Amino acid sequence: MPKTSVPKLSRRGFCLCCVGVASLGVAGGWLSPREAFAEAHQLVNMIRGAAAKANITTHKLRGNVFVLEGSGGNIAVFAGQQGKVMIDAGITATRPKIEKALNAIGKQPVTHLVNTHWHFDHADGNEWVHAAGAKIVAHENTKKRLMETQRVEDWDFSFPPSPAGAIPTETFSEDREVEYEGCKLHFVCYEAAHTDSDIGVHFVDQNILHTGDTYWNGIYPFIDYSTGGSIDGKIAACAKSLAIADNKTIVIPGHGAPVSNKSELKAFHDMLVAVRGNVARLKGKGMSVGEVAAARPTADFDKHWGQFVITPGLFTQLVYEGV
Ligand SMILES: [Zn+2]
Repeated sequence: MPKTSVPKLSRRGFCLCCVGVASLGVAGGWLSPREAFAEAHQLVNMIRGAAAKANITTHKLRGNVFVLEGSGGNIAVFAGQQGKVMIDAGITATRPKIEKALNAIGKQPVTHLVNTHWHFDHADGNEWVHAAGAKIVAHENTKKRLMETQRVEDWDFSFPPSPAGAIPTETFSEDREVEYEGCKLHFVCYEAAHTDSDIGVHFVDQNILHTGDTYWNGIYPFIDYSTGGSIDGKIAACAKSLAIADNKTIVIPGHGAPVSNKSELKAFHDMLVAVRGNVARLKGKGMSVGEVAAARPTADFDKHWGQFVITPGLFTQLVYEGV
């Protein structure tokens, strides 16, 4: 892969989580900060443009729970009698299409928006959803991160503080159960995994688990070390989700095909464990990141998992950083 190649847009939408990874070279070839900065800006604009044109696909799951696919991360929606609950808000540029999809589900307003973590492709829409009347609920670290400038080193990119209307109005830092619009939700606090602000949301009666970006379905994931993520935290988060799920659970990943299940989540967990083991063993011999990537520690998994913007070399770098 040429070092400045731009990840291609896929029908699964494009994720900001992947932006900076394009600024990482494969097998140790890093872009200069200036090149990476220029590329990150170009990609942010590309994401905004892609989100503006994105089509939203609505999947009906069960028990009045839906998932909207196409604007950043996968968005879950519960439609109650009087109001809706949204899990993540996608990218603002897609607002008209998200509103259309929400209205097609029902005319009731969104009363609660839950963020799975602070990243742009999940929380960018906070401001408009809040202005339309919703409370914003999130892990306290999501609030903290949205209130301050966030520097993501692997993207060579700084995000300014979010506007006041986008800041979560209710926060928590331990697992909790709530009931919104007659829907019982279990907020699952993961240890720092993809970021330090990750939660999962279990729709208890419908047995549907939105994992946020702790799980990407069928693709190598991004890990945001700059805001607290780690490979070991990702593995622990998947283990926690697996303990909650059973064979009937519908699992909604942060990215990738939006309707998944426990066995696919287990395969993701097992892939993380195996790659972590391979990379740790090679790094333990004193090998550089380039040498480890050249030894192809992901080879057994690339055919299935390496087909999206996080390439095998990039994923190896992300794991290397954390072992
Ligand atoms: Zn993310």
